[in-house]
Amino acid sequence: MSQQEMKIAIVGLGGMGDWHRQLIESIDGLTLAGIYDIKEERQEYAREKKVHVYNSFEELLADESVDFCLIATPNDLHKPLAIAAMKAGKHVVSEKPVTLSSADLQEMIDASKETGKLFTVHQNRRWDEDFLTMKKIYKENLLGDVFRIESRVHGSRGIPGDWRQEKEHGGGMVLDWGVHLLDQILLMMEGIKLKKVYSTVTHITNQLVDDGFTTSLLFENGTEVIVEVGTSNFVNLPRWYMLGANGTAIIEDWNLKGEIVSAKGQNEKDVVPVITAAGLTKTMAPRRDDTIAKTELPIVKSDIRDFYRNVMKAIRGEEEIIVKLPEVARVMRLMETVFESAEKKQVIDFE
Ligand code: NAD
Repeated sequence: MSQQEMKIAIVGLGGMGDWHRQLIESIDGLTLAGIYDIKEERQEYAREKKVHVYNSFEELLADESVDFCLIATPNDLHKPLAIAAMKAGKHVVSEKPVTLSSADLQEMIDASKETGKLFTVHQNRRWDEDFLTMKKIYKENLLGDVFRIESRVHGSRGIPGDWRQEKEHGGGMVLDWGVHLLDQILLMMEGIKLKKVYSTVTHITNQLVDDGFTTSLLFENGTEVIVEVGTSNFVNLPRWYMLGANGTAIIEDWNLKGEIVSAKGQNEKDVVPVITAAGLTKTMAPRRDDTIAKTELPIVKSDIRDFYRNVMKAIRGEEEIIVKLPEVARVMRLMETVFESAEKKQVIDFE
């Protein structure tokens, strides 16, 4: 093995652990040393895939050839497993949400400091092309001054029927999907203070944990951001909707169907009113085609393998880690604020 090669072990080979297993196969210089999962059936699955199976977590940690671990267990187990791995001399990547509270996260950060081991979180949706495209539109001011951003994911099947429905395992949609969408927004609005948070959560299909939420985030520059996760939505609203003084950008779905529509030329004169059954309106009449420009989205391409490439370079000290712990901590605090606002039915000051 060349000096550049690294070995990773996966703890928890469920749905996501297996996604990582396949991704790792495609990354140059990274080899899967093996997996550990408490479930016999998942161990058997790993053997079928010709992957080495450790008999215990301790055995995995004792393997000196392993440089770093990926923790992909239910959310409540990230903390004890990550801390134990760092103490055993391994660098650690935790699945999201990193853990269940800011206090727990602090213990993990302390363990990273004490052991000098790299610790980061798989915030993979930073590589979503829909997000990167909207971030470009925002940063390059393609719509003029942006005053509102809406980011949503909608499904209609409730929460998947496993540990995600239980509070003690860190279930619920704020922790599951909120962590991605809030992380994306804080990156998009980088450098701008988030002043106020107002949120509501839903319990349509589950009383134990939230099965959706809506939060309104008011930033210091006046931009309002709506973030919403719904699991009882049989008709989806667009994934992204961004309003600027000169135009609107929309991304409808995961396939990046969307466009930018902006004002062109002079404001229309002689607007033809829309006649409705009970009245008429000029204000809400559609634009004439010659007064608007429709442009394609400036799609930003990405490669999710860059997540692991960055982790490996950061371990070698060749590159700064992309998913930084202060960012992870800010998102965790924001998720706690979302819950606090929903519980108190109040606007909460954030920064
Ligand atoms: P899952 O239930 O499919 O898999 C979890 C696995 O962990 C199971 O196989 C289980 O047997 C195993 N496990 C439980 N306790 C263990 C222990 N003590 N030691 C070793 N293995 C143990 O769940 P999932 O959907 O794969 O989610 C796992 C993690 O990945 C969660 O934190 C989840 O939030 C995250 N996730 C992230 C994304 C993403 O896009 N980043 C997507 C899905 C899930």
